[in-house]
Amino acid sequence: MNLKGKVALVTGSTGGIGLGIAQMLAQDGAALLLNGFGEAAEIEKLRADTAKKYGVRVAYSGADISKPGEVKAMVEQAHKELGSLDILVNNAGVQFTSPVQDFPDKEWDRLIAINLSGPFYTTRAAIPGMKARGWGRIINIASAHGLVASAEKSAYVAAKHGVVGLTKVTALELANDGITVNAICPGWVLTPLVQKQIDARAQAEGKTPEVMRDQLLSEKQAMIKFTTPEQIGALAVFLCSDGAATITGTPLSIDGGWVAQ
Ligand code: NAD
Repeated sequence: MNLKGKVALVTGSTGGIGLGIAQMLAQDGAALLLNGFGEAAEIEKLRADTAKKYGVRVAYSGADISKPGEVKAMVEQAHKELGSLDILVNNAGVQFTSPVQDFPDKEWDRLIAINLSGPFYTTRAAIPGMKARGWGRIINIASAHGLVASAEKSAYVAAKHGVVGLTKVTALELANDGITVNAICPGWVLTPLVQKQIDARAQAEGKTPEVMRDQLLSEKQAMIKFTTPEQIGALAVFLCSDGAATITGTPLSIDGGWVAQ
């Protein structure tokens, strides 16, 4: 329970990787501000169940991270309802695939706003409180696509490379304030975001989703294995520990050998 007394905001934690990270932080004792979209009754159940299971305080914000005003209010809510904001995990993200020449303006703007501007707005809003307390952890969930590219993912790859850049600059600026800033770069994780891509490709290539799943993995990773949200959460917990106090400005791969090739 090393994170007892700390408050963590995980954006996009109503499902997928964000929920796994939130649960691992709560297991280590952190109070949580959950964020993301979904059906109100389901989110309230998730909030109450998480609080009960881990014995920590859990609040929820429905802020859209692409809107700076809503982000500011969400960070204020963490301070008001939970007492501080010590750990910020920028996880919320979306995908859209298309060749560059056909990429729609609307999708480009949406991906950059959520995947890149969102982490900037949350980081900017969280820094003053972390500086005042002399301790903070900012963890940006980038991607293997923050380090290497794939065809038809121009906005996603541009945004994720941008997140790695934002991570490095923020780390330098906060290096002597007790605040570390790192990026986690996952390979394939089986969440709704990836299932959508598997289903679309399975349909286009006339394959079953199971065959497509293995094909997707083997195209990119040495390991034919998905990383789980809980494994990413375990890495986030480590980054919050004293053992990781001098790890800053670094992209950490957790990708079954994707970028080693
Ligand atoms: P997901 O679609 O399962 O979950 C996304 C979460 O973000 C949901 O809770 C959703 O409600 C929330 N969200 C979406 N738009 C939002 C907004 N504007 N404001 C607030 N919340 C918003 O996705 P995932 O696969 O769990 O991905 C999480 C992060 O991990 C993303 O940044 C993604 O790019 C990254 N990532 C995913 C994979 C993978 O294989 N799944 C690999 C590498 C990186």
